[in-house]
Amino acid sequence: MTKFVYLFNEGNTTMKELLGGKGANLAEMTNIGLPVPFGFTISTEACNSYYDNNKAISSELREQILRALSELESKTGKKLGDPSNPLLVSVRSGAVFSMPGMMDTILNLGMNAETVVGMAKLTNNARFAYDSYRRFIQMFSDVVLGVDTFYFEQYLEETREAKGYTHDPEMKAEDWMEVIEGYKKIVQKHTKQAFPEDPEEQLFLAVNAVFDSWNNQRAKVYRRLNRIPDHLGTAVNIQSMVFGNMGEDSGTGVAFTRNPSTGEHILYGEYLINAQGEDVVAGIRTPEPIQALEKDMPAVFKQFTDTCKKLESHYLDMQDIEFTVERGKLYILQTRNGKRTAQAAIRIAVEMEEEGIIDKQTALLRVDPEQLDQLLHRRIDDTHVRKQLAKGLPASPGAATGEVVFDADEAEQLASEGVKVILVRPETTPDDIHGIVASQAIVTSRGGMTSHAAVVARGMGKACICGCDALKIDLKEKQFKVGEVIVKHREIITIDGSTGEIMLGEIPMIEPELSAEFKTLLQWADELRDLGVRANADNPEDAKKAMEFGAGGIGLCRTEHMFMDAKRVPFVQRMILAETLTEREEALSHLLPMQQEDFEGIFEAMEGHPVTIRLLDPPLHEFLPDKEELLVDVTKLQILHPDSTELAEKEALLKKVRQLDEFNPMLGHRGCRLGMIHPEIYGMQAKAIFYAVAAIMNKGLPVKPEIMIPLVGHVNELRQMRQLVIDTAKEVEQETGLTFTYTVGTMIEIPRAAITADEIAEEADFFSFGTNDLTQTTFGYSRDDAEGKFLQTYIEEKVLPENPFAVLDQGGVGKLVEMGVQLGRKTKPELKTGICGEHGGEKFSIEFCYKTGLDYVSCSPYRVPLARLAAAQATIRNKKSKEPVY
Ligand code: ADP
Ligand code: MG
Ligand code: MG
Repeated sequence: MTKFVYLFNEGNTTMKELLGGKGANLAEMTNIGLPVPFGFTISTEACNSYYDNNKAISSELREQILRALSELESKTGKKLGDPSNPLLVSVRSGAVFSMPGMMDTILNLGMNAETVVGMAKLTNNARFAYDSYRRFIQMFSDVVLGVDTFYFEQYLEETREAKGYTHDPEMKAEDWMEVIEGYKKIVQKHTKQAFPEDPEEQLFLAVNAVFDSWNNQRAKVYRRLNRIPDHLGTAVNIQSMVFGNMGEDSGTGVAFTRNPSTGEHILYGEYLINAQGEDVVAGIRTPEPIQALEKDMPAVFKQFTDTCKKLESHYLDMQDIEFTVERGKLYILQTRNGKRTAQAAIRIAVEMEEEGIIDKQTALLRVDPEQLDQLLHRRIDDTHVRKQLAKGLPASPGAATGEVVFDADEAEQLASEGVKVILVRPETTPDDIHGIVASQAIVTSRGGMTSHAAVVARGMGKACICGCDALKIDLKEKQFKVGEVIVKHREIITIDGSTGEIMLGEIPMIEPELSAEFKTLLQWADELRDLGVRANADNPEDAKKAMEFGAGGIGLCRTEHMFMDAKRVPFVQRMILAETLTEREEALSHLLPMQQEDFEGIFEAMEGHPVTIRLLDPPLHEFLPDKEELLVDVTKLQILHPDSTELAEKEALLKKVRQLDEFNPMLGHRGCRLGMIHPEIYGMQAKAIFYAVAAIMNKGLPVKPEIMIPLVGHVNELRQMRQLVIDTAKEVEQETGLTFTYTVGTMIEIPRAAITADEIAEEADFFSFGTNDLTQTTFGYSRDDAEGKFLQTYIEEKVLPENPFAVLDQGGVGKLVEMGVQLGRKTKPELKTGICGEHGGEKFSIEFCYKTGLDYVSCSPYRVPLARLAAAQATIRNKKSKEPVY
């Protein structure tokens, strides 16, 4: 018989997979003696058995639940459904990975027409008892019976207004009784059934509902976003209730042991007096900062801060803690490793190492490389005078500009059309998740720093402002007002999530810088990692950025962008249009000094670090005007100016465009195939490189060029192009009297190159895996067509686990990379290998590169810090080290 149900004293934190994160931590806290209301956890295995059993609770599971329930009853001295001393419980979902607000929780279960009377007597507080009962009906109906909360809220508001009250606390016991009757009618109307009064039936219905919620839409979306496997299932926690809504000596709150936004080492959180858990999280009332609790309840505050310290040193990480105070007594309801912004993650990791709580390796593993992206984004330029429209709580840092929208569906729709939007809502709920994903930033007029919007935005690294009550949002009119100013739907605003400011219009932004802690962490990463990190940079500015962000060289310098410059295009076109070699060489002679200048700038910026320069790669027609546009021009000119020289020129151009037109440009005349047919082009580029090398050497500066031939599929191509480079170098050496040190290698981006890597290595000093094209050619997908047409469906339907252009396909493309490295090194053990596709900046692919034995990864300059950290993590995780790795 499988054990499906565990009392809190039977589990511990290592049992997360079985008990879910929440259950395992409730058990752990129970065992270290913290004041946790007692209860039990129904395991994730039970959830899976529920699905295997056609979504029904087996009799075996039912029995185990009832047995645990009676243990709970004897421990608390209360009984479910007993009018004289009723046990009330919460039913809480708890997945293996925390999914905040994704699954539904039910409080006060066990309430019915009889137990409410008992509760009123026991607590001597009828108002409280009936309020709790109506909350239960509302939550249970929403989560279990599928009756939208809206109907209850609306009814409550009407009743309140009819009685002339403005706030709930003015409601008396009799008023709540009336509301309860109304609520029951709503349930009857929508479900055609009476509200279930039998507590045991309530319990099992609730357990079913939690299991079902594992597969609701928002949970699925969240899992997909966070790469959480679908098969894990959720646990269910049944816990005896404690009440924060029993009066002024009661309350409920949430706190982080360190600031989750900045990482600062201070207790950070908020609470509400006389309120039940959901009130804080839902962001309906704006709460007090946790520090104020010291004045309100000094003894509780002291006990709470001690507990926080105890929890942090027990878990060795920043904790996110839920608590409730019932008539002056503190209870802890949840703890977990707190979600945090990238900035906070870095500061907490570095400071915890400095405080001696964790070691460097652990600190490095604590920061998710992907999160760093947040810090490497632009921020609002501080030299710009801000005209603040309104100010709310700085709930998640970063700046964003976008059009105002008020609806999650619309946000998603507009974003899919490429519009940048900012979602503005009174508050957000888990049903808005798709709109939050699609938006640049989130603004809410209600709710605090731990409201749904704030938690979700921080997790996603999106800028967010909460509780900005100056915004008077009118959802019907689709606009908001701040004083006299009206901001309409789709007007542009800019927000600063680090200060909470909202501004009208678009505001200039500036480039990011690394904080001191960030630099420290990256320095540790550099000390530990055994994998080089280079940058892809095509011009001196990017090269400088790459150096600033700690790149060890340039892994890919594309030369075609240098051709795109407006001043150069005429010469490039002349070169392409040339009818004779002399004409072409003449055009090339104009381009040579320009290319040389580019290379000098890059070499100088790189201060002697290696620079891999790739010779011209795209097909020539990319430098000519679009065929259709040209056709339109020619037709117009034929009618309007039939004798003009402009027409003659355009006709010549059109003829060339037609000649160069290809059925399948991705597989057409490009890469080294250009150099093979037009050696003068590659010759010019090589000459420009060596002239630049000579110029740098003459300045007495170091320079390390690596010349890369693209799109090689056969060793003969490389042999010929390599010889061209060597001959050119010799020529320039003779001319300048200098001796150059350089290497010649190739990109491996065609399967045949990987398969014949042993032959190709004969002619190559290095391989750089061009995994963008290698993915295209291995799958036989053209990237632009795939991403636009079918890839999304493939990923949604799990035909492919990931977008192979974002995360390296280890099973296919990765095998070719491995083969390329092994075969290449068999011929030439000293062969240098790297990767220069976009995968070079993605953490899973970086780990793969480490394991495959590549020497370096190369990515965009902005991803270099991320790659340095990911490279260190790959080293720590995969290297057999004597030190313990957590
Ligand atoms: P979530 O995972 O969405 O945070 P929780 O299960 O933690 O959901 O519960 C939601 C709210 O209900 C929290 O504020 C929590 O503190 C409160 N709560 C849960 N169980 C109890 C209980 N037994 N007594 C009092 N409050 C509870
Ligand atoms: Mg919680
Ligand atoms: Mg390529």
